[in-house]
Amino acid sequence: MRSDEFYMHRALEQARLAEEAGEVPVGAVVVDADGAIVGAGYNAPVSGHDPSAHAEVRALRDAGARLGNYRLDGCTLFVTLEPCLMCTGAIIHARLARVVYGAAEPRSGMVESKANLFAQPWYNHRVEVVGGVLAGRVARQLKGFFAARRDGRAAGAEDD
Ligand SMILES: [Zn+2]
Repeated sequence: MRSDEFYMHRALEQARLAEEAGEVPVGAVVVDADGAIVGAGYNAPVSGHDPSAHAEVRALRDAGARLGNYRLDGCTLFVTLEPCLMCTGAIIHARLARVVYGAAEPRSGMVESKANLFAQPWYNHRVEVVGGVLAGRVARQLKGFFAARRDGRAAGAEDD
C-alpha cells in the first residue's frame, strides 16, 4: 500500500478526464488491501444522461466488475471531493473499509459538511474516513474549472 497522497494523485488524474469532457472535475479510484488500483471513474452525469454517474459510483462499478463481486471488502475509495448522499450510500453497500477524500463539499457533502452519514447507527458496517488529502490541489482544480466556464460564458459560449 502506498501513501494516501499517491492514490489521491491518481484520483486527480481521473478528475482531469472529467474536466476534459466538460464535466465538473471529480475523480475516484478503488484500491484493494494489497494496494492495487482495481477501479477508476470520473464524474460524467451530463454526457451520460445519468444522474448516478458520479465518480465514486463509476469507480465502484468498475471495481465490482473487475473483482466479480458487488462487495468490495477491504478496499479503499479515494475521491477528490467529499461524497454526496448517494455516494455515501453506495460506499456502505459496497462494504468499503475506508474512504479518503480531498476537499470538503460545503453544499452537499455528507461526511463532514452537512452531516456524517458514516457515523450514524443505522448500519452495522463501519467505514473509516480520512478527509483533506491534497485538498488545496483539489480546490484549485475545481476553481480553475468554474473560472474557465464563467469566462467561456462571458465570451458568448453556450450555456449548459
Ligand atoms: Zn456523489
